[in-house]
Amino acid sequence: MFRDFISLIFPNYCLACQTLLVKSERWLCTGCLVDLPQTNYHTEVNNPVAQKFYGRIPITYAMAMYKFRIGSSVQRLVHQLKYGNTPEIGEMLGNLYGEQLRSEEWDYKFDCIVPVPLHPQRLRERGYNQSDYFAKGMASVLAISWYSDCLKRTKNTVTQTHQNKMERLDNLMDAFYVVNSSIIQNKHVLLVDDVITTGSTLEACALSLLAAGTKQISIATIAVTD
Ligand SMILES: [Zn+2]
Repeated sequence: MFRDFISLIFPNYCLACQTLLVKSERWLCTGCLVDLPQTNYHTEVNNPVAQKFYGRIPITYAMAMYKFRIGSSVQRLVHQLKYGNTPEIGEMLGNLYGEQLRSEEWDYKFDCIVPVPLHPQRLRERGYNQSDYFAKGMASVLAISWYSDCLKRTKNTVTQTHQNKMERLDNLMDAFYVVNSSIIQNKHVLLVDDVITTGSTLEACALSLLAAGTKQISIATIAVTD
């Protein structure tokens, strides 16, 4: 009743098409939600996300829910998740992806989920790590554990334009370390993040996890840029 009352005063509009949302909808109307550009990369081994890691690190499965394009509904949704103080969007998307993977019998493939951490200062400013919520949403549907506190980030990595690719990766690798490594040792870890572009951050996280004894790494993100 309280929520009905609130929505009378503050009606919610679809982030994509601006139509008024009905009670069962949140952030996106049903039409826009089903229209989001799914990649279905989990059904394709040599997909564009997997290809980003070829010759870099061994990744068992690589997947992303949606294609990320500038000005698209996916961009608006990710922007709202990161800057709108609405971490629940991450959990909703994690639930959706988890349900899709579970229905296709992926639930037994991973031992646990680890989100890419934010730098502590960024975390303080934002109040939450959006990838934690995506991890939580997936983990609850797949009925596996997720750990937000085993991979830590030490420095705010500023990409230096004068650095070459190796120097940038060195810089990034120093940025992550594993604490409490016993929980990921000999495990198949699903590493998750919001948007994958070059894959350097995920690569640096994966290298830290592998160095700490993780047996296999797979990657899932909310979206992937072209
Ligand atoms: Zn809509």
